[in-house]
Amino acid sequence: LFIAFEGGEGSGKTTQSRLIAIWLRDQGFDVVQTREPGSTKVGMRLRAILLDSTHQGLSARSETLLYAADRAEHVEKVIRPALHRGAMVVCDRYVDSSLAYQGAGRELDQQDVAKVNSWATSGLVPDLTVLIDVPPSVGLRRMASPADRIEAEPLEFHERVRREFRALAAAEPDRYLVVDGQRTQQEISLLIQDRVREILPD
Ligand code: C5P
Ligand code: MG
Repeated sequence: LFIAFEGGEGSGKTTQSRLIAIWLRDQGFDVVQTREPGSTKVGMRLRAILLDSTHQGLSARSETLLYAADRAEHVEKVIRPALHRGAMVVCDRYVDSSLAYQGAGRELDQQDVAKVNSWATSGLVPDLTVLIDVPPSVGLRRMASPADRIEAEPLEFHERVRREFRALAAAEPDRYLVVDGQRTQQEISLLIQDRVREILPD
């Protein structure tokens, strides 16, 4: 079972993916909790390049390919092997982040970004994607300071990102859970548990 968490800056994805991983482990499941970018040896170096705020002028196409390279490495070295041995994978960000940030945010052709990512992942799609939706003004206010390159983008950029995440979820309601990221941490985690319970093996 492969569960991805998506959402904008300060949406609480990291917290909620950690909580669901703990909940699943408590029930005896083997869980691999991971994140993008930066969960492999090469991926850590790609993450450093991608988030370096001195790389402000990085081309949108290189950015897309570097995220895709990180993801290809992640799928091949971490996610597929875990799924193969029967573990559950909980991943903080996946392909939708590229469709939202590079496709909508950077205004690249959505079909191109989708194609590159489908190739990079050899077509691996999550069983469930949890979108934690918050207005960017709220999410960004939660950040200690806009530390990385992307967080420093203008509000309109983050508005496009949010719109794309919501559109992706709306197009496939059966494979998505959209939760209001302005509810309490506990309310959100209970909503996620309810949805995950539905897809657990017996
Ligand atoms: O989730 P986290 O904040 O660790 O992600 C690191 C940064 O990478 C974020 O600022 C996010 O906006 C950015 N990102 C991106 N495109 C992706 C994935 C992440 O711009 N495909
Ligand atoms: Mg961030």
